[in-house]
Amino acid sequence: MRIITHTCPDCGTIVAGNVLEARRVMKCPGRNCEAVLEFGDLDQTEQDYIVSNIENYSID
Ligand SMILES: [Zn+2]
Repeated sequence: MRIITHTCPDCGTIVAGNVLEARRVMKCPGRNCEAVLEFGDLDQTEQDYIVSNIENYSID
């Protein structure tokens, strides 16, 4: 399976796509970074891939 990630445009912190899918909108986990990351920031094809394969990801 593909591992889809999203990179914060402000600090470069990498967030797993399935975490974004679960939360939809989240504050960047990077230190001292106030950026807001959204599932919708991913490419449409990446969003579709995660949604259709969500049972293959372990949610943590
Ligand atoms: Zn950040």
